[in-house]
Amino acid sequence: MTISRREFIKHLLLLGGAVYCNPPPLWAAKPKLTPAYANLARKGELADRAASAYAVFQECRLCPRECGVNRLKGEQGFCRAPAKVMVYSAQPHYGEELSLVGAAGSGTIFFSNCNLRCVFCQNWPIAHEGRGKVIEDHQLADIMLKLQQIGCSNINLVTPTHVMPNILNAVRLALAKGLHLPLVYNTSGYERVEMLQLLDGIIDIYLPDMKFMNDEKAATYLGGASDYPEASQKAVLEMARQVGDHQTDQRGTATRGVMIRHLVMPNNVAGTDHFVRWVAMNLPPATYVNIMSQYRVDYKAFEYPQIWRRITMREYVQAMEWAQASGLTNLDPKSVEVWRFYKQTLRNEPS
Ligand code: SF4
Repeated sequence: MTISRREFIKHLLLLGGAVYCNPPPLWAAKPKLTPAYANLARKGELADRAASAYAVFQECRLCPRECGVNRLKGEQGFCRAPAKVMVYSAQPHYGEELSLVGAAGSGTIFFSNCNLRCVFCQNWPIAHEGRGKVIEDHQLADIMLKLQQIGCSNINLVTPTHVMPNILNAVRLALAKGLHLPLVYNTSGYERVEMLQLLDGIIDIYLPDMKFMNDEKAATYLGGASDYPEASQKAVLEMARQVGDHQTDQRGTATRGVMIRHLVMPNNVAGTDHFVRWVAMNLPPATYVNIMSQYRVDYKAFEYPQIWRRITMREYVQAMEWAQASGLTNLDPKSVEVWRFYKQTLRNEPS
């Protein structure tokens, strides 16, 4: 059974209610944060990390594609990104996980281009077509400061992998002007551990996807990236080593830790049962996991029969039951509300 428009609206209202009924306690004082990168800068290491990252541009191996192109000379690899950073948009975002949204939104910066380029990409004009504006690193620093000034809870770097050097340089510049928000590394999960090690002590919150668990399916749907399952698993383990479990302040706003996202796909092509088992076997049971229900047919998904429909309520309920059965104890609260709603709806269906 697919989800009707009416059901979808009910689902949205229910989610709105859940958020309204469980707001973070706004009366609690906003704590003063010391982000990871400020400690690193105090030791004099932040500038060195930015320089080391920039050197990778000469023979780009920022991600597992390892194109080896000299982006400083204008050569382009799989991601088609220049060496200068490109930004599509920057604004407070209220649709992220509740602990990232906090009281005033997650300060989201959408970078243009992408090193993964999924066939079902929902941001294809930005990720595949590279829409956006080329800016200097100091302008990126100013964007971060602006998001902080308007009260955002964090700086949420969306699709950051191919512009990681620019980000480090911008953070260094912004820190000198007073940036103090935690950084959220919002990545597809297609990362190299060696590059993540440059981020150790800089990123406070990792927000990786784990999209596919099977090499063949990853190759089909993720631009030929058959090594995605292995790369993303190694990446998540490195992220967990660096920042540990999801932590929040007294207002319920995320301050540190790993938050894993997994999108349920039709016909279980994402391997959700395998995904939850992997997390349960390799990470603590309290690892924050968001099993997402919002897959929609977009970009080139129409060309792939296995994924040319939305998921059904039954598929989503099954996915959450797999997560529960595997022993995961820290499932995203919004996804748990959707699970409850779908279960109730299915129970009320005429037999
Ligand atoms: S970041 Fe881009 S150019 Fe560099 S290795 Fe990855 S896909 Fe290739």
